[in-house]
Amino acid sequence: MNAPVMSASRPALQPDSGSQHSAARAGQRPDFAVIGGGLCGRLVAWRLAGAGHRVALYERGDAAGSQSAAWVAAAMLAPLAEAASAELLITRLGAASLDSWPRILAELPQPVFFQRNGTLVVWHHSDRSEAPLFERRLRANAPAELLDGGLLALSGAQINAAEPALAGRFTQGWLLPHEGQLDNRQVLAALAAGLVERGVETHWNTPVDDHALPAAHVTIDCRGLGAKPVLPTLRGIRGEVARVHAPGIGLARPVRLLHPRYPLYVAPKQNDLYVIGATEVEGEDMSPVSVRSALELLSAAFSVHPGFGEARILELNAQCRPTLPDHRPALVWDGAQTLRVNGLYRHGYMIAPEVADEAVRFALALADNKLADADAFTNWKQGARWNELFHLDHRNPRDTVREPA
Ligand SMILES: Cc1cc2nc3c(=O)[nH]c(=O)nc-3n(C[C@H](O)[C@H](O)[C@H](O)COP(=O)(O)OP(=O)(O)OC[C@H]3O[C@@H](n4cnc5c(N)ncnc54)[C@H](O)[C@@H]3O)c2cc1C
Repeated sequence: MNAPVMSASRPALQPDSGSQHSAARAGQRPDFAVIGGGLCGRLVAWRLAGAGHRVALYERGDAAGSQSAAWVAAAMLAPLAEAASAELLITRLGAASLDSWPRILAELPQPVFFQRNGTLVVWHHSDRSEAPLFERRLRANAPAELLDGGLLALSGAQINAAEPALAGRFTQGWLLPHEGQLDNRQVLAALAAGLVERGVETHWNTPVDDHALPAAHVTIDCRGLGAKPVLPTLRGIRGEVARVHAPGIGLARPVRLLHPRYPLYVAPKQNDLYVIGATEVEGEDMSPVSVRSALELLSAAFSVHPGFGEARILELNAQCRPTLPDHRPALVWDGAQTLRVNGLYRHGYMIAPEVADEAVRFALALADNKLADADAFTNWKQGARWNELFHLDHRNPRDTVREPA
């Protein structure tokens, strides 16, 4: 394996004045540089710092995370509902991560809205043929433990009882009682505060170039779609959402509407805020939400509950989900000192705790020189909990330049 080339040239980093620089103040080279402070990057950096390591995080956008896919996401934690389109690996990662979120949130210095009140799945009478298809896919792609007591067929009367806001509107549905959701922006903010609390050196508004990586023993690349130059098969899948304020409706949990062309959801957050989403459009178009998509999203919400007709549109947002060809997340080692964490597609919040944990374990082994070559990597992979996630990228970038130690 070639080690990354070291160079005396300094990277063109311009940390903003609000950054926290505990590691730099101490004059020490960080153990870990995390590039990309969206969902994964924050979680990985926070975990590594919690294990007592010196960590620096570099994010091209602000501390709020407004340039990340994580900023736009609905943050539903719905491994069973996602089994309608996701394979078993993803639903298992989601189930394990759902159990981890409350522990993570309990350690963060700011409160985060988290709910484990289930998902309600409904459909209009004209789309009733979607229901058996949905059920069949769930039974095929979800682990038995999620299905056990996790998929309840509801009559109209039972829907009325479970979700009084929708009383009289649907004659059949499914309740997936164990699923969850959280507030994406609160998590990003709480993780930013957690990074400060744990002494992470944070560089907001600081894009990192592959040819000028910051100095560190180990680099963890969590740039999402920003990692395209080094992950050529990575692509974006555009998603559009509306955020509306709709007092008086009072949905108790996310509602998914089955539809052959527009399978959409309405996710209630705190204070009568609803995230309505999301489209799936191939391509990396980051332009504003189209009229067609806005009409689809808002009509779907209106068809779930007419009260959305009086809702106020707070935001219409578009972002791209970082996606690999197999729609799986990947932990890609470059054979030297860099691990890339990417491909979380539409499941970032749902699976991030397990993916980040696996990344942290690997990064720690890398820092401890336990991964000297491809054989060591193969052994590591065989022993890993989620071994399907690991890949060795033999194209070790020769032109990588690091800050001197
Ligand atoms: C519309 C929509 C709805 C979604 N809904 C859900 C949902 O309900 N449930 C769920 O689980 N998931 C959902 N997701 C998916 C989830 O948001 C993503 O899977 C997750 O955000 C991926 O995390 P990430 O950290 O890999 O990437 P991101 O969150 O995109 O973070 C990457 C970060 O890297 C930074 N960056 C990029 N290039 C550079 C550079 N050169 N230097 C420094 N920083 C850089 C970016 O600014 C960004 O902050 C949704 C996504 C979208 C778009």
